[in-house]
Amino acid sequence: MTKSVIDYFDQAVERFADRPCVDFLDKKYTYGEIAELVDRAAKGFQQLGVKKGSKVGICLPNTPYFVVCYYAILKVGGTVVNYNPLYVERELAYQIEDSQTEIMITLDLKQIFPKVEKCLETTCLQRIIVCSMSEVLPSVKSVLFNVLKRSELVDFNRDPAHLSFTRLANTDGAYNAVKTLDEDLAVLQYTGGTTGRPKGAMLTHANIAANTHQVRHAMPPIVEGEECMLGVLPFFHVFAMTVVMNLGISIGAELVLLPRFELQQLLKTLSKKQATLVPGVPTIYTAINGASDLAKYDLSSIKFCISGGAPLPVEVKSDFERLTGCTVVEGYGLTEASPVATVNPPTGEIKAGSIGLPLIDTKVSIRNPDNPKIEMAQGEKGEIVIEGSQVMAGYWQRPEATENTVIDGRLHTGDIGYMDEEGYIFIVDRIKDLILCSGYNVYPREIEEAIYLHERVAECIVIGIEDEHRGQAPKAFVKLVEGEEGLTADELKAFLKDKLSRIEMPKEIEMRDELPKTMVGKLSKKELVEEERAKKTA
Ligand code: AMP
Repeated sequence: MTKSVIDYFDQAVERFADRPCVDFLDKKYTYGEIAELVDRAAKGFQQLGVKKGSKVGICLPNTPYFVVCYYAILKVGGTVVNYNPLYVERELAYQIEDSQTEIMITLDLKQIFPKVEKCLETTCLQRIIVCSMSEVLPSVKSVLFNVLKRSELVDFNRDPAHLSFTRLANTDGAYNAVKTLDEDLAVLQYTGGTTGRPKGAMLTHANIAANTHQVRHAMPPIVEGEECMLGVLPFFHVFAMTVVMNLGISIGAELVLLPRFELQQLLKTLSKKQATLVPGVPTIYTAINGASDLAKYDLSSIKFCISGGAPLPVEVKSDFERLTGCTVVEGYGLTEASPVATVNPPTGEIKAGSIGLPLIDTKVSIRNPDNPKIEMAQGEKGEIVIEGSQVMAGYWQRPEATENTVIDGRLHTGDIGYMDEEGYIFIVDRIKDLILCSGYNVYPREIEEAIYLHERVAECIVIGIEDEHRGQAPKAFVKLVEGEEGLTADELKAFLKDKLSRIEMPKEIEMRDELPKTMVGKLSKKELVEEERAKKTA
């Protein structure tokens, strides 16, 4: 039996009881205070019948409630099902039914609560725990919030299926400790995967604890009990769940939570709280690069930033490091690996454009996508395949999808990459994003990197569109740096002329004011691919 994230939590509470654990918009909770709330909520969940195998959904933005409920559910043996609070009712209902979520925890905001409430009628959901936003705000902010946001708050107490968090956590006395096993299901984490509808990746207690430990091991500059970590990435996404919440707690860090990304607030927070560790997705670093008043903020406390979840363009990394003086280490992972598999060593050689080296107890191989038994030679491109204790137990109730993804204990990622002579791994693209142009594989990522070299480009996405002669051809969507409007598609093509082969040159370049992003802030191709497809069939 290995250590679980509950053990990490308990140890941090023991060692750092009086240190701040969570800072939410200036209201601080110590490790001791969070632990007390966890115990009370655990008792409440137990009284509601939560036990091993029960699925409890968390549909919350980053708030102290998230941390408290997550550990409380795990402590009584339940399984956390993470929900994106921005989901529409249909998406919530699908995930509730698929996972068989019995209880959902959410906020008393009209933006979220009514969607969840509707699911009480249409799905197997039996109960909603409603957390009050104003109760976790500092007193002055709380009064203001209740006045200013009155019209946005819900009145939820009439229905017996609704229970406030305050009532849930109202009972004194200890809960009955439940012994969890390595193979017990800790979290059902939904992911689009490479095909089909979202599937629940079954992350066991051993998976999540292993990954927390592996990431910790890869970051020697961390000092336990001294770090202040930014929590702007949403905890319902696996990157933040492991790398911010679980890792942060395991090292006794202060987690500074922001419920959403807003550039000025983020910069102010980093500077005011003297954050030392800053995990983010590439679009956050891009946004910081574009801040006109960046010099105003003191970012000198930052030890390093951690980028993951999507490719970090080399230009974005170097601009960020030049403008802020902070180092960014890029890592790579996916939901099915709890999520991290590789990272650049913060104190060793960091290679720009590389996703770094495998974590400890992780083997990464590059295999022939058509025949996984064949390993590719060093430098050759193939599918990235991962072995390690962080690899999921499988997809929830989808044996066939599991069989196609975890083969002989190895996780087939659907990502194409290669390894250099020192074992650093480079991602080229996702298999499903490859553009097949006149029989050649064209990698959108390489075209994107070339486009980012233009100093007036802020963000770009390249996809494959139908082409009557070549099968497919690349199309680029570009967002320019604010205040830099006016660059034309032809000018950009002229700039790219000596940077791309003829086959890679985008057939079309479209300028956009905004590019689609996922809820975590990753640039998202799906919407653009669908738009182009719809144009064809119109
Ligand atoms: P998700 O499971 O939603 O977190 O998405 C995982 C996918 O994000 C991976 O399979 C990769 O395609 C992509 N990804 C994650 N990190 C990186 C990275 N550093 N560089 C390129 N792609 C990445």
